[in-house]
Amino acid sequence: MASISLYKMKFCPKCGKKGIKGDFCSKCYEEIINSMLEFKEIHIKVCPLCMTYFFQNRQVRFDDIATVIRKVAKQNIKKNLHAEIKPILPQIEFKPGRKYSFEVEVALSPKEKYYLPAVLEMVRCRKCDRQGTKYYEGILQLRNTTKEVIDFVRNDIKKHSSKGVFITKERKSGNSIDMWITSQRYLQNLGKRLHKRFGGILKISPRIYSRDRQTSRDVFRVNVYFEMLGYNTGDIVKTDNKLIKVTSTGKHVTGVNIKTGKRTSFASKDDVKVLEKRKAEVVKDYPEIEIMDPDTYQPVKVENTKKIKAGEWVDVIVDEGKYYIV
Ligand SMILES: [Zn+2]
Ligand SMILES: [Zn+2]
Repeated sequence: MASISLYKMKFCPKCGKKGIKGDFCSKCYEEIINSMLEFKEIHIKVCPLCMTYFFQNRQVRFDDIATVIRKVAKQNIKKNLHAEIKPILPQIEFKPGRKYSFEVEVALSPKEKYYLPAVLEMVRCRKCDRQGTKYYEGILQLRNTTKEVIDFVRNDIKKHSSKGVFITKERKSGNSIDMWITSQRYLQNLGKRLHKRFGGILKISPRIYSRDRQTSRDVFRVNVYFEMLGYNTGDIVKTDNKLIKVTSTGKHVTGVNIKTGKRTSFASKDDVKVLEKRKAEVVKDYPEIEIMDPDTYQPVKVENTKKIKAGEWVDVIVDEGKYYIV
């Protein structure tokens, strides 16, 4: 029969063995597979506090440990080898100090399965280790501060704790508070966000490389000073008998004079009164603008002009009985 003679004709291209079923004889096939798989032990280190694993000198966040194991196992198998990788995991508890040995199944086909040894180790990472220590990379100095700002800072730090951001020391006096913080990069960014959100004086001063007493390593440290002024960009203030719409805050505050429309500036230490903005409806736009007084509901004239139409709602301030659209 022709088919049998053809079958007998097939031989292993590696060793020349005749009468094989696949592309190689079973002995050569095993050798090839063994050279494709590197039987290097799979060792995965995980920080169970911030749920990250260490991969190629980096810390990577993860949700599913099986996905992590598959990814790491793939590194231990030579490329161009298509395999189904399935970790055979025991019950896992994410706690520092736990260590699990298990196997990873590598299936080249439903019949050809290999098992690689693997270890999963739980260790606190360096960042998480800083919690509850005296480690710090910078001091946040809040001056003339409010509960709103302090709450904002605490919540924000809590949100970043998985990235190793903690307050390791605090000192409060009056409405000033100093916070020792574990990440200088985070602290600088926080300072900028505080300034944008609340307005005030921001000073970021690096204190280049001071030695950390606990680790005796050199650390880059930074001081972030944030003093609140009680007003922010967009607010209307009165100083030196001028009404000013603030456009930027800092040691020098800049803004626009409401009466003249001209740019102006003043020192943040000057005496400043913040004026309350109210919503009012424009009731007349020609020949003069009139608005409805938000308290008396009487139409009143405004001191400055704006391109607006009757029926629109505007922000107004009242100063010495006079009304201004701001
Ligand atoms: Zn062979
Ligand atoms: Zn961690």
